[in-house]
Amino acid sequence: MSAAFEQHKGIGMTSQRTRDRLVQRLQEEGIKNIEVLAAISRTPRHIFVDEALATRAYEDTALPIGFGQTISQPYIVARMTEVLLQEGPLQSVLEIGTGCGYQTAILSQLVGEVCSIEYIPELAKRTQALLRELQLDNIHTRIGDGWQGWAEKAPFDAIIVTAAPDEIPQNLLQQLADNGRMVVPVGGEGDVQQLMLVTRHGDEFEEEILDQVLFVPMVKGKK
Ligand code: SAH
Repeated sequence: MSAAFEQHKGIGMTSQRTRDRLVQRLQEEGIKNIEVLAAISRTPRHIFVDEALATRAYEDTALPIGFGQTISQPYIVARMTEVLLQEGPLQSVLEIGTGCGYQTAILSQLVGEVCSIEYIPELAKRTQALLRELQLDNIHTRIGDGWQGWAEKAPFDAIIVTAAPDEIPQNLLQQLADNGRMVVPVGGEGDVQQLMLVTRHGDEFEEEILDQVLFVPMVKGKK
């Protein structure tokens, strides 16, 4: 475990017991991957949200993180991570939408390395400082437009998109390794969003709808 997590163990509503109750709830809701559950159990989610919201950090809900954005609900973080890992270990993963960095921190404990892109500079900088403090040193972050992906670091074994584009970003498909997997919530503003799993087979892309979800929209950059 990151030694830095030890310093943030928490008490009362932020304690290990509270985290373990969340893990139990996720298991009841169908999350099965033991490694994913263990990462959630050891990661102090309360330090990724504003101090005033810390006591609510282990409820299974999304919470505001400033700049009009939200930290994803733990169930969704667990589910997306579980789906990415379903076919075996992953070396390199691209995340679109670093946000407060919680999903990034969970992933970094389960894969070789995580590259994460955030659109809002102030949020990206705040989160970069936190991830550095936590000594999660297999994370690379960048301020930029997720529609473009991160060509210099491609191909990726997996891509996770944590804001909702109105259509699957084509650049991201091209940055997937063969047999690579992408989970992405797709839907325009006001539409029902579908959580999709896209798997690359050579030049073919197999699409599967997993769930209905609700994410903040993915800001339109250049496509
Ligand atoms: N995984 C994050 C989710 C944050 S919400 C967490 O658990 O905290 C989605 C994030 O995607 C927001 O921080 C938002 O600013 C970012 N985002 C939206 N459009 C984007 C784009 N085009 N490129 C990169 N990031 C984007």
